Amino acid sequence: MSPAGRIGRDVLTNYPDADIGADRRHRGLARGNFPCCPARLAMPLRSYPHTLELRHAFTIANFSRTTTPAVMVEFEHEGVTGYGEAAMPPYLGESQASVAAFLARIDPALLANPFLLEDLLPAIDALAPGNTAAKAAVDIALHDWVGKQLGAPWHRIWGLDPAKAPVTSFTIGIDTPEMIRQKTREAAPYKIIKVKLGRGYDEDRAIINAIRDVTDKPITVDANQGWKQRDEALAMIEWVAGRGVVFIEQPMPKECPDDTAWLRERSPLPLIADENVQRLADVVKCRGVFDGINIKLMKCTGLREAHQMILLARALGLKVMLGCMTETSCAITAAAQLAPLVDWADLDGALLITNDLFDGMTLADGKIVLPDEPGIGVRKRGAAQLKVHR
Ligand SMILES: [Mg+2]
Repeated sequence: MSPAGRIGRDVLTNYPDADIGADRRHRGLARGNFPCCPARLAMPLRSYPHTLELRHAFTIANFSRTTTPAVMVEFEHEGVTGYGEAAMPPYLGESQASVAAFLARIDPALLANPFLLEDLLPAIDALAPGNTAAKAAVDIALHDWVGKQLGAPWHRIWGLDPAKAPVTSFTIGIDTPEMIRQKTREAAPYKIIKVKLGRGYDEDRAIINAIRDVTDKPITVDANQGWKQRDEALAMIEWVAGRGVVFIEQPMPKECPDDTAWLRERSPLPLIADENVQRLADVVKCRGVFDGINIKLMKCTGLREAHQMILLARALGLKVMLGCMTETSCAITAAAQLAPLVDWADLDGALLITNDLFDGMTLADGKIVLPDEPGIGVRKRGAAQLKVHR
């Protein structure tokens, strides 16, 4: 069977809803970039859907959910397997079927020399717009494979001191004051509480007060674009600033950069962009509007671009936060490889689920501990020890 046929069969087996017609229409594009070996390579990428089960229903300003769809990716080449993951909250616009369809567009010839990340990752990015979580899954798996082949974790390849990794915050979604107090008690091992606000100013104040009933730990606030009027947003920021809040993430809608810039000039707390910054080209737009950016692998296509975004943000004088979606320890540990470079980390995604598939990053007294394993630093649960080539 041809590679195209094999990929199509696997997609149809694992993802019965997938549209692989689009895949076949785009395969010529991938081959056009790498015309040397069109048809006889076996496909080294495998994938399977995995639905992440949340410990608590997770509510933010716009919606609530109890599961997150994910797709796990494995890149196997020369006897070494690299692991990757696409995790997709609904607002990203991706699905398990769309990830499968995107993966099926990748010609095996593109992956013939996986060390050439600077060639093949831009080529994969160019296969179709969007699909950032699908692209991140491939990026993470290839970084894992390369790191394993080099015998080193990515923080060492990048020249980073793992001791500089910060503490991670622990996120509490919107809930009743009673549940907020309970979740705050459950967050006892963590040094910083991240709280979701943006439902309404009275409800927001009640949530902050409920946390302060339990603890005086630092709080970071994510308004998720929920504050619509700049005067009211400023009053809210001034109120929380007197209650131990460290910064405000995305206070206003992403369509309102002028209002956000107005707010920043007056805010006693730093403002951090999340919905306003997705990829590398968005970073420069944040200068003068925000004080920092929140980088997530699932929205920026993975480790390569996240690393570039951190360097650019630093050059522009912006603070950097490293965030996540609800993810297994696979994507979380991959992101954690960059943690020594950032001011704040919010890498609690794997702590919020009950069906993690990997062991990786751990916490010691709330601080991120990077594994010394090569690649992205994970071990698949239940699998035999990974074969590492040096
Ligand atoms: Mg956010």
